[in-house]
Amino acid sequence: MEGHPWIFRAAVAKEPKGQPIGEIVEVLDWRGKFVGKGFYNSNSSITLRVLTRNQDEEINSNWMAKRIHQAVDLRRRAFDDTITSGYRLIHGENDFLPGLVVDRYGEFLVMQIHTLGMDRWREVIVEALMNQVSPKGIFERSDVGARQGEGLDTLPVGVLAGEVPPDRVPFLENGMSFVCDVHTGQKTGFFLDQRDNRLTVSAFCQDAQVLNCFSYSGGFSVFAAHGGAQAVESVDASEPALVLAKENLSLNGFDPNDHPCIQENVFDHLKACKDGGRQFDVVIVDPPAFAKSLGALKRASRAYVRLNRMAIEVLKPGGILVSASCSSAVDDETYVGFLRLAGAETKRSIQVIKTHLNSIDHPGFVAFPEGRYLKCFFCVVT
Ligand code: SAH
Repeated sequence: MEGHPWIFRAAVAKEPKGQPIGEIVEVLDWRGKFVGKGFYNSNSSITLRVLTRNQDEEINSNWMAKRIHQAVDLRRRAFDDTITSGYRLIHGENDFLPGLVVDRYGEFLVMQIHTLGMDRWREVIVEALMNQVSPKGIFERSDVGARQGEGLDTLPVGVLAGEVPPDRVPFLENGMSFVCDVHTGQKTGFFLDQRDNRLTVSAFCQDAQVLNCFSYSGGFSVFAAHGGAQAVESVDASEPALVLAKENLSLNGFDPNDHPCIQENVFDHLKACKDGGRQFDVVIVDPPAFAKSLGALKRASRAYVRLNRMAIEVLKPGGILVSASCSSAVDDETYVGFLRLAGAETKRSIQVIKTHLNSIDHPGFVAFPEGRYLKCFFCVVT
């Protein structure tokens, strides 16, 4: 075993006695040699989630607090709170804590529990986070579909400790001010994984006309405006997302009248731009995961090629395409293939100038490709 944290049902030759679902079991290989300890769940296709490969480690509250400390400490070293106070504190398997996600937004933490095994450790986790991070409050947003696959029939949402977060929770990202809605916003409230890319975008936006497709709450738009864009057009299907986008632009001194926020299907909007002969200097496409599983890959491939083709069609010669995918079923080489096809269909040359795979608060194990879901390509399109 190279360190992949999942063992699928098909790979289990003999189930543990009594089938202790949700509990911690030891895993032995076919020779009876110790492999690791982890959460066992025969309801899930991922029957075992490895917690440790060290037989001497006892999994108890101290162990949990220590693992949380390791994750928290990495972020403390990486971020200066006076510049960036929104980041992922715990990134599930990638921080040795399968099924646990914790995001920090300024004074509040938002927690998600995806797995049955981790669901039983809620109180221990909350206590450790209160002790180590001292937030004003911890809010749970475990309204995630993944729980169903684990046999969990609850989707808990609500305050776990301290104060109830306000409707708008403020935080900083690379010196820019943002608010998010941790109660009803998408995921835990914000897409923290694009932080580095939003900063990179600002470098290409001086005097530019920018189109930000799938803008959500305007993260890329704020950085484009900060980089000196003449106008940034944010497009998203969700109305609440665009309300937040306008607030985030205003918070940083940018007038939403100069930077329109448009509620529309991105594909329709790109078509209307093309039909109207509109051209942009920078186009950002950061769609939701089109391929949620390997099975959905074929259809998703066509959607990615079409999206990038349509984005290129409204890009001036020499313009910048920022193209992202958060489908873990699509690796970076496959995605480059989509860009190549989009270039061929539009007869344009695509020069990759920067790539991004993950940021410090979204670590990934070399032996766990499923954990490396994000890719972002910055391209000059001539
Ligand atoms: N770039 C954003 C994150 C994008 S998440 C950021 O930096 O924060 C994907 C967004 O796409 C969501 O806000 C969702 O509402 C929106 N969306 C999904 N399908 C869409 C479609 N067909 N047209 C427009 N928006 C869409």
